[in-house]
Amino acid sequence: MQIISSLSEISKQVDQIRSSGKTIGFVPTMGALHAGHLQLIRTAASQNSVVVCSIFVNPTQFNNAEDYRLYPRLLEEDARILEANKCSILFAPDATEMYPEPLVIQFNFGTLETVMEGKYRPGHFNGVATVVSKLFHLVNPHKAYFGQKDLQQYTIIRQMVNDLNFNLKLVCHPIVREPDGLAMSSRNRRLSAAERQVATNLYRALLLAQDLLPAYEINYIKKAVADFLQPYNNIKLEYLEVVNLKSLQPLTQRTGEEGVALCIAAFIGEVRLIDNIIIQ
Ligand code: AMP
Repeated sequence: MQIISSLSEISKQVDQIRSSGKTIGFVPTMGALHAGHLQLIRTAASQNSVVVCSIFVNPTQFNNAEDYRLYPRLLEEDARILEANKCSILFAPDATEMYPEPLVIQFNFGTLETVMEGKYRPGHFNGVATVVSKLFHLVNPHKAYFGQKDLQQYTIIRQMVNDLNFNLKLVCHPIVREPDGLAMSSRNRRLSAAERQVATNLYRALLLAQDLLPAYEINYIKKAVADFLQPYNNIKLEYLEVVNLKSLQPLTQRTGEEGVALCIAAFIGEVRLIDNIIIQ
């Protein structure tokens, strides 16, 4: 596996790969790799000749300085894991080379970003769209792999790819969970043992909402989920939303057979986690 940090070098390498007729599958990450990331890598390896994985803790997408400071950084360990998992190139740029000047342009995704993560993390999706478009230009992949865990991120990137004619195919990978249901996340490493135990209740809350959905009003479901989580004093619910799967707009009532997503965000102690379930 090659480890590349320079922007000109990654572009040179991917140009060579493309001109030899090979296909490139790209998995952008922020590192601290877990089995969820690895499933994206394996899927990419099964569908492309070459896998490029990027590791970059992108400063522009953090609206909380502490979250950025405490985000786990394990580059050497990650490199060993990638090497053993069919990754051909690890691209790990420096923030100073990615952002030599302060950013000027701004993305605006309209109502896609006025809800959920966009509402609670102002500026987050501007940072995500900026870094993902830079990475797409640098890596120039045939296919790029994202996780359903960050459903709003995937939806926003799909919009960006369509609106700006990025010449690549997006693949959305289902959520990979721990045996007790907790969605895998790099931030799970920051949970204490006690917090890790209660964190599984986020998924249980989603399952409760899923069970109630066919027969109850959405406001009732939101209250039931809040009541379910209320006894855990180290869980602070930020939102539970039932949204239209395409528009991500919150529903007050489920109408007909539209696809919906149940989305949750909560603090477990100091660590903010998100999860969702899609119902087609
Ligand atoms: P991150 O390093 O957290 O930015 O994640 C990199 C990519 O992996 C994103 O597209 C995430 O949605 C995806 N991902 C993270 N955790 C999971 C998971 N538990 N299951 C599936 N995909 C995931």
